[in-house]
Amino acid sequence: MTRPSRLPRLFRRTVLASALAAPLIRPARAQGRVRVVMVGGGWGGLSAARHVRKAIDGAEVTLIEPNRAFFSCPLSIHYIVGERRAESLTFPFDGLIRDGVQHVAERAQTIDRKARVVVTETHRIAYDFLVLSPGIEYMEEEIPGFTEAQGAIPVGFRAFEQQAVRRALEAHPGGDIVLSVPPVPYRCPIAPYERAALIAQWMDRRAMPGKVILLDQNPAIPIGGPTIETAFRELYPARLEHHKGVKIVHIDAEKKRIETDKGVLTFGTASLIPPMRAGSIVRTAGLGERWANATFPTFVSAADDRIYIIGDAVGSTLPKSGHLAYETGVLVADHIADRVAGRTGQDGDALPSAICFAFFTSDEAMRVKIEARWNDLTRDIERRAEIDSRRSRNAAQAAREWSEAIWAELVG
Ligand SMILES: Cc1cc2nc3c(=O)[nH]c(=O)nc-3n(C[C@H](O)[C@H](O)[C@H](O)COP(=O)(O)OP(=O)(O)OC[C@H]3O[C@@H](n4cnc5c(N)ncnc54)[C@H](O)[C@@H]3O)c2cc1C
Repeated sequence: MTRPSRLPRLFRRTVLASALAAPLIRPARAQGRVRVVMVGGGWGGLSAARHVRKAIDGAEVTLIEPNRAFFSCPLSIHYIVGERRAESLTFPFDGLIRDGVQHVAERAQTIDRKARVVVTETHRIAYDFLVLSPGIEYMEEEIPGFTEAQGAIPVGFRAFEQQAVRRALEAHPGGDIVLSVPPVPYRCPIAPYERAALIAQWMDRRAMPGKVILLDQNPAIPIGGPTIETAFRELYPARLEHHKGVKIVHIDAEKKRIETDKGVLTFGTASLIPPMRAGSIVRTAGLGERWANATFPTFVSAADDRIYIIGDAVGSTLPKSGHLAYETGVLVADHIADRVAGRTGQDGDALPSAICFAFFTSDEAMRVKIEARWNDLTRDIERRAEIDSRRSRNAAQAAREWSEAIWAELVG
């Protein structure tokens, strides 16, 4: 059942390698098939679904996800600025269904943890193990006026929202384009800077008057600052203004006016990213407040040992990255397989790694790679970062290869 991995060597040696090479495991439940349910069909949930099917013979795997296809946020900026077609980032779940995963195209409304049942609008789905990867939601209330303005200022940091951002850009009436960076932690720390750069390039190519104004709520760029600042300075000196430590206190979409703690500005087009928190099912199920509480290195919920929480919803110092969500899906599939087979023992200290790319022009990018391990003595996550000191064409090529390979693993 294990097919050869098409992932680049770069990350094959991490969690992924051992998991894909692991022997298939006999079903441990003598009297029935083990039922594993995933909530969320993004990077984490798809990975977990596929790998549980591989790791446990005869496992009954159900994916609860309202969308009928996957849309990749990585590389979506190229779609927003008109360089890629939506189809090149959109993948139906056919491969997964062929692998034997059942798809329920609804939202999980609640989890009855006592009965071990996930409740959707029309189903009650029983589980032996549950993997939650619901991603993030926006804390709209943190930007007064945002909810009222939402139709006019789409965010585009979740799958399928990018279409609205592209439409807003195409309808840009002139003037400045105001973008923002929320306070950490948020999804893909270098992505808002990529967006600013490629929209600046988009304006340059059209010789439009006006600027990109990036309002950054952080006092410093969270990661890769020197590379990002050099790119901004060298490529867009007169086009892109980056203001750090600025909090948006109100937006009025009708008057096209943003009030900040440092002053007021007007815009032609805006796309603001509010602060983020875990998808609401985490709170509904009592598994955390802003973020889900997980234990490491297993990603078992701190509140319920039959539930795993993976991806961006987890509260930790690990970066919120699709690659990391993917590798965590592999890791928890392996962990569930071990439990089903009655294999217990040391969990080791390996944690999944993260890889994020940011483009600064259509064909130059930077890469950030973070490897992590769990220190059982300090009960803390240790991180080691490798950050490109300069943008390059090689990193852009690596980004394209990485995404093709990982999409094939998730939904091929
Ligand atoms: C512009 C941009 C660029 C990025 N670039 C990179 C990069 O280069 N490398 C990288 O590794 N990562 C990158 N990322 C980050 C990556 O997209 C996220 O880290 C990844 O999507 C997280 O996976 P997830 O499974 O946690 O959440 P998601 O992929 O968002 O999936 C969550 C899913 O859960 C579903 N869901 C939510 N609630 C429920 C519910 N109650 N019931 C059922 N389903 C539910 C949602 O519909 C969604 O499909 C980028 C992100 C952005 C926005």
